[in-house]
Amino acid sequence: MKKSITTAGITLAMAASFALPAIGHAAPAPDPDMSTKLAGKTVFLDPGHQGTGHSENLSRQVDDGRGGTKDCQTTGMTALGGTPEHTINWDVTQLVKSSLESLGAKVVLSRNDDTGWGGCVDERAKAASASGADVAASIHADGAPAEDHGFHLIVPQLPIPNPTVNEVQSTKGLTASTDMRDAYVNAGFSPANYAGVQNGLQTRADIAGPALTTVPLVFVEMGNGGNPDDAKMLEGKDGQLKHAIAITTGLVSYLLGTPPVAPAPAAAVTPARGTPPSTTTTGPTTTAPTRTGPSTTQEAAPSTSTPKATAPTTSKPADGVSTTIAQLLRPLLNALGIGGGDSLADEQIFDTLSDVFSTVLDAFLNSDKPATTPTAPAPAG
Ligand SMILES: [Zn+2]
Repeated sequence: MKKSITTAGITLAMAASFALPAIGHAAPAPDPDMSTKLAGKTVFLDPGHQGTGHSENLSRQVDDGRGGTKDCQTTGMTALGGTPEHTINWDVTQLVKSSLESLGAKVVLSRNDDTGWGGCVDERAKAASASGADVAASIHADGAPAEDHGFHLIVPQLPIPNPTVNEVQSTKGLTASTDMRDAYVNAGFSPANYAGVQNGLQTRADIAGPALTTVPLVFVEMGNGGNPDDAKMLEGKDGQLKHAIAITTGLVSYLLGTPPVAPAPAAAVTPARGTPPSTTTTGPTTTAPTRTGPSTTQEAAPSTSTPKATAPTTSKPADGVSTTIAQLLRPLLNALGIGGGDSLADEQIFDTLSDVFSTVLDAFLNSDKPATTPTAPAPAG
């Protein structure tokens, strides 16, 4: 009983927030170009922390990448609504995974589920390095006092003792991190106003992952689970979707070497909580004259067949919703080298949006997890 109510509620919320416009012609043919945009690219995704179903000793000391040791793992925070961070990280990661795969990327995860053990921090770094990924992303949310809010990217203090890691993280890793920062700002999120974060970046020497990983690493703290507005976004399904779109956009920007564009000027996007970014920061640097990211050269694409999901909601949204969708996804399309300017109004662009996004939306609707009781096993029926 509860499940059907929850599912209906989610569907309704999604229809209201993200329903894609019904295009006035027959079933859209999959765009072969879109499904191979990231062909040949590998992305390592690390949903931070792990479920509780394990008996590992979290305080076992492991290599911190700087000549010392630190705890193997932590449990992560619990957001104000009661959702554990590991589940928030897991759910957002699943959405990012789906969207990247729909674009042809190979995705490798640091852990296989949200119930049991997922490895120490050093083991996850090794797994990321071993994956040979073009980019890796550790996905976390923070726990801080209620007045603190906003996202940030953790970047390693330099130099990092391991020369290979130092070289990678100080060049490609930093580029990927700033691309992610710009994607977050473009998606309407505010950079964090706490913990010494400057323009969305926080430099730290006590995080093992960036000091141990030999592929470019982005370490994102999506928001503060102790802040009411941030927690709502982190725990709500539509908020998680917005985070996933921002993360996907940042990764795509980096992988394709397309620097993020400025957000659209119109105000249809749900405004970021708190003070607008322009009054708290100098805004993101959107020009990257000497990018160190991978080139945009498309390699011969192995035909990665990606099953296309059918968009579960095809109801025609109000104009305002269309505008919101367009603005939310506009940076992603630009990162993909599509659209820009007013062409988003074109049916073809919405077709493309629908094509790309339907997979993510389908994954979202099939996640079958009420936001408030994420660790409860799904009812049999
Ligand atoms: Zn965390």
